[in-house]
Amino acid sequence: MSLNLRELEAEILDQYFEKNPRPWILGFSGGKDSTMLLQVVWNALVGVPDVPKERDIYIVCNNTLVENPKIIEYTDKVLEKIQEAASKQNLPFKVEKTIPRLEDSFWTNLIGKGYPAPNNLFRWCTERLKINPTTKFIKEKVVDTGEVIILLGTRIDESATRAKSIEMHEVTGKRLRKHVLPSAYVYAPLNNVTTDEVWQYLNQVKSPWGANNKELITLYKNANSGDCPLVIDDTTPSCGNSRFGCWVCTVVSRDRSMEALIENGEEWMEPLMELRDLLSASREDRNKREYKRRNGMEGPDIWGPYTPDFRAEYLERLLNAQKEIQELQPQMILINYQELVAIQVLWYRDNIFNHNVADIYNKVYGAGITLDRVNDTIKKEKELLRNVCEDDPTDFDLINDLLALQKTKTILMNNRGLQNDLENKIDDYILNINRE
Ligand code: SF4
Repeated sequence: MSLNLRELEAEILDQYFEKNPRPWILGFSGGKDSTMLLQVVWNALVGVPDVPKERDIYIVCNNTLVENPKIIEYTDKVLEKIQEAASKQNLPFKVEKTIPRLEDSFWTNLIGKGYPAPNNLFRWCTERLKINPTTKFIKEKVVDTGEVIILLGTRIDESATRAKSIEMHEVTGKRLRKHVLPSAYVYAPLNNVTTDEVWQYLNQVKSPWGANNKELITLYKNANSGDCPLVIDDTTPSCGNSRFGCWVCTVVSRDRSMEALIENGEEWMEPLMELRDLLSASREDRNKREYKRRNGMEGPDIWGPYTPDFRAEYLERLLNAQKEIQELQPQMILINYQELVAIQVLWYRDNIFNHNVADIYNKVYGAGITLDRVNDTIKKEKELLRNVCEDDPTDFDLINDLLALQKTKTILMNNRGLQNDLENKIDDYILNINRE
């Protein structure tokens, strides 16, 4: 191997033993680069007798909740091994899994609010699914400890854009570069390692936490795929390109890694492929899109959110696919209960009463779940309000809209932007009165 491992490990140790023991946050995706990074750090530390514990090393892995199921299964298994081996070997590694907030989840936005499937012009997902959860974790650690160092497996030969971004943020003469978040620095020890060297390393150096690197290599081979590293900002190139990523991704025209996995024996993933293709086509289907945007703009040329009918149809197809897959893979969840509740709340907010999440769920699963509490409360509020505003129905519309905004933000546990939203609604209302 042309790579000088001793030098690399020595450099990592030198950084580890710097005077200020700022915690390390190591972005782990289960892919080849972050696996090599963790192995190199691990092997460097394991050679040191009595590693001081003052510096925590968090191994942070984000799950978008719409990850390629094959990859998330593999990554979860590996994370378990890592945590177990770290405790046994008395190393300061701590595994942390992050997920998007409910209001940011893919299904809450797509089925609940009717956001169209993402594309390059409206890529609303990366920030919500990938950047925000990790940013939240980093910020929390900054609050606790003052500063943090983020270790990434990014490499210069990965992409020209990335190389440029690395150059721009480099702290001259030092190994660390500034992160966009205050008090956070990035350390990328594999910067100058080539792709061939990564593969050679994984082939030749055994996993210190007892995983089988051959399994990872086979996964890549079967998926004919690139990597999707931890995404900490929007310059990260691989999100949305040919790589392991979200199975719902419509930013790429074809999900070649999923196609390759199916060709290599994972036929149970076929329903996922169909759902992804349906999303891709639905974006450009005039019949599936409203003629009015949420901001009130309307007209024959306006492509608004998905229609209530399409949102309900898609939810039913998604649940059907989940049920079909669960016959072979009982643990597999494509959409969770909290997301179903959030979707119901959002449908009420959009005055969708002819479709009901519980009815769709029960139709597919032959079950008897009920979301009546959500429904009843909102219905009662509306009746009360209608009575109070009997003399002036336009007041009902305004107050109802304001309440719906507040309710959605409260139920989804985020009041951020609420004041702005309320002010915009009141401005629209005043504007309309003046027009009349
Ligand atoms: S992989 Fe695709 S769907 Fe997932 S966050 Fe990136 S662009 Fe969005």
